[in-house]
Amino acid sequence: MNAHPYEPPETQSQHLFDRARAVTPGGVNSPVRAFGAVGGTPRFIASGEGAYLTDVDGNRYVDMVCSWGPLILGHNHPAVLEAALKALQSGTSYGAPSAGEVELAEEMVARIAPLQQVRLVSSGTEATMSAIRLARGFTGRTKIVKFAGCYHGHVDSLLAAAGSGVATFALPDTPGVTGAQAGDTIVLPYNDVEAVQAAFQTHGAEIACLITEAAPGNMGIVPPQPGFNQFLADVCRAHGALFISDEVMTGFRASREGVYGIDGVVPDLMTFGKVMGGGFPAAAFGGRADVMGHLAPVGPVYQAGTLSGNPVATAAGLATLRHCTPDVYSHLDTTAHEIADLASEALAKEGVPHTVQFAGTMFSVFFTGDPVANYEDAKKQDTKAYAEFFHAMLNHGVYLPPSSFEAWFVSAAHDAAALETIAEALPHAARAAAAAEKS
Ligand SMILES: *Cc1c(COP(=O)(O)O)cnc(C)c1O
Repeated sequence: MNAHPYEPPETQSQHLFDRARAVTPGGVNSPVRAFGAVGGTPRFIASGEGAYLTDVDGNRYVDMVCSWGPLILGHNHPAVLEAALKALQSGTSYGAPSAGEVELAEEMVARIAPLQQVRLVSSGTEATMSAIRLARGFTGRTKIVKFAGCYHGHVDSLLAAAGSGVATFALPDTPGVTGAQAGDTIVLPYNDVEAVQAAFQTHGAEIACLITEAAPGNMGIVPPQPGFNQFLADVCRAHGALFISDEVMTGFRASREGVYGIDGVVPDLMTFGKVMGGGFPAAAFGGRADVMGHLAPVGPVYQAGTLSGNPVATAAGLATLRHCTPDVYSHLDTTAHEIADLASEALAKEGVPHTVQFAGTMFSVFFTGDPVANYEDAKKQDTKAYAEFFHAMLNHGVYLPPSSFEAWFVSAAHDAAALETIAEALPHAARAAAAAEKS
């Protein structure tokens, strides 16, 4: 079952996966971890150190996922570990305010100008869900606009990515989300100015907010075309809708100040997660003080959380942000470009069509020869070639994202030795990709 030609038989990962599938749907607690897009058995991880993961069979991999972004300093960074341990020794959760929450909020507000106030939550999903509720509460309107291929967590109304080309009212992407929940969501093609104009012309007075990934990273990296984010901010303002920039992935990673630090576009609300939690469950939404003032307990829009502002998570998040120095960002930038160049060279040598795209220090490799401006373009990828490429990299000690629709993440711990392992693995993987049957 689930055999892949590259799979070594009878591993501890296979045993754990069998046990996991008996007690957990698909054996995983977040679907992409199941290797569904690439086949084979997911590796069960025993530990992480710096740029490396070690699985339960003792195999070591250069980690190009970094927990999907949070581990910007690498696994088990000494300062983050120390901060978390110190917090842990004082207690794990108080259900009452504590100093760490104030310090983390102050650090974020000081760093990102449009962020006048923040509310801490425990996941990116909670952040976007709460921001949308707040936007609806603030404007008194119902409709929301999102882009196909943008992921904002598993919020009911945002699990809709509908058809291409024209503005369509979304059909739910998943059973369990009702037509009513998705029906107020307008899904548009990314980077398409005309589609946005048309949607606002028709529905402008009913639109509470537009939410976009500041630079989409959940269909692979698809940077906004020059001026696109500013156009979105302008069109929202003109129609009295709020502009929500989702920086859960890009925040404190694309640059020190996220995508905001690159394009300077001022949103009404922003959402954060991943890096700001330092590998623990911490996330946030925030923005204009007058909008945030509509939240309970000062305003009427309810929002809460038992573990919100958890002292261990806030300590780890704060330590992470404080250790993200300019040197760290320049290292991420250089390393990302080095790895992207190595991958591109290896694939070009074997004649495998591919496109590398960047947003700040983030990048991804699309298995299609054409530039990718939206989700329809991203779907032209040769996913079979990627599956072969992925498994060959894995067998040569490099853990890539188990889907071609994901960013490749680097950390401050990705050093020359890690790059050497990647460089040695790539020619094998490029040959495997070239030999794949066309999908
Ligand atoms: C990861 C992600 C989310 C969801 O965050 P979770 O912590 O997984 O709930 C939301 N938006 C974007 C852009 C993300 O990348």
